[in-house]
Amino acid sequence: MRFRSSVAIDLGTVNTLVWVAGRGIVLEEPTAIAIDTAVGKVAAVGAAADTLADKEPQDIEVIYPLRDGVVADLEATAAMLHAFLKRTRRFGVLRPNALVCVPSGATPVERRSIIAALNVRRSKYHVRLIDEPVAAAAGAGFDLTGGAGGFVVDIGGGTTEVAAVAGWRVVRARSLRKAGNSMDDAIVAAVRSELGLIISQRAARQLKITLGVTGGAEGWAEAVGLDAAHRAPRTDYVPGGLVAAALEPIVSAIASTVHEMLSEIPAGLAEDVVRGKIRLAGGGALLPGLAGRIETAAGIGTVMVEDPLRCVVRGAAEIVERGQKGRHAGPGLRELALLPAQARFPLPLFCYSMGWRAIVSGSRPASSQPATPAITGRPTRIISRFQVGTEASSPRPSSLLSKE
Ligand code: ADP
Ligand code: MG
Repeated sequence: MRFRSSVAIDLGTVNTLVWVAGRGIVLEEPTAIAIDTAVGKVAAVGAAADTLADKEPQDIEVIYPLRDGVVADLEATAAMLHAFLKRTRRFGVLRPNALVCVPSGATPVERRSIIAALNVRRSKYHVRLIDEPVAAAAGAGFDLTGGAGGFVVDIGGGTTEVAAVAGWRVVRARSLRKAGNSMDDAIVAAVRSELGLIISQRAARQLKITLGVTGGAEGWAEAVGLDAAHRAPRTDYVPGGLVAAALEPIVSAIASTVHEMLSEIPAGLAEDVVRGKIRLAGGGALLPGLAGRIETAAGIGTVMVEDPLRCVVRGAAEIVERGQKGRHAGPGLRELALLPAQARFPLPLFCYSMGWRAIVSGSRPASSQPATPAITGRPTRIISRFQVGTEASSPRPSSLLSKE
């Protein structure tokens, strides 16, 4: 009962997970929202919205509101989070605590936009942020108390976060804009140019999961798409070598980033890293053959964490619980409270809508700058493009998701 008023949110580029104190992981959905543009209302969120994306129904616009781990469309993020959290919320708590994971290189403006997304609606949250690599390390099983450290690689959809952490803080981190989505894009391009077959992102993802860099059990997989010349549906056999070659530049970029980062860690952390091994988290960690490639490049034992897709939210949940037990805000937490004036009219939202993000300099490394920084939307109305509360999809039963 003590933790009932806290939630931990892993707001990923591809998947959003919500953990509620006392209940466990209650929501696990694609980070997507579908808008019915004819009536300006939310048609679906999460998996229901994601399913609509490839099929392109009339008057439906599917938005993936995060890009490279940061908010790219604030209105859509706020509407999506509102719909997700409405499913998880129970009565009685006026202003729950929300711990949200952010990429370690996120700028102050990007951080504030996440707080704004959770506070532009009537149901407000007391938001705290945690650097994602710290949450990933906690979820990966490192005990970071007493200055202990570890090395974690979180391969998500938009970015790969490579980080050394110690004592609940990031020691060194690098964000690489090559991860699951760029793997899918590379497969789409290779299948089109080598086999003359146009496949969807979803089909490419399936080829990636089945074949990986090793070619899978069979050495090939079937894919259905459109013939590039005749524009007619066609099925083809995709060789494992084709997919492995398409993935190679991305896998080798990830492996070299890990290698470079290892050369930059303080000597005092070396023993912790060797003993604890490199731990791979995020959905991309499941790519067949990836752990072996990283281990070869790094020369250090490399293991995939248990249940890598839930690693970050599990770690964030642990941090919430540790924070609740102690008197302080919790390990490695950052407070970025809104000023009173901002709370009434969120300045970050205004800045975002005006495209300030493109000109506000921050600590985010150039390698992880979002591809399209310009933000859409009008500055004077909050959530003006569409209304919320109409999505029909039913909540997923928490018993299927909860681990506790
Ligand atoms: P994010 O945190 O950015 O939302 P996730 O950690 O949820 O990302 O991982 C999503 C990515 O993992 C997607 O690009 C997805 O295609 C990829 N992925 C999921 N399962 C597998 C798998 N078995 N093999 C390879 N990649 C996978
Ligand atoms: Mg993630």
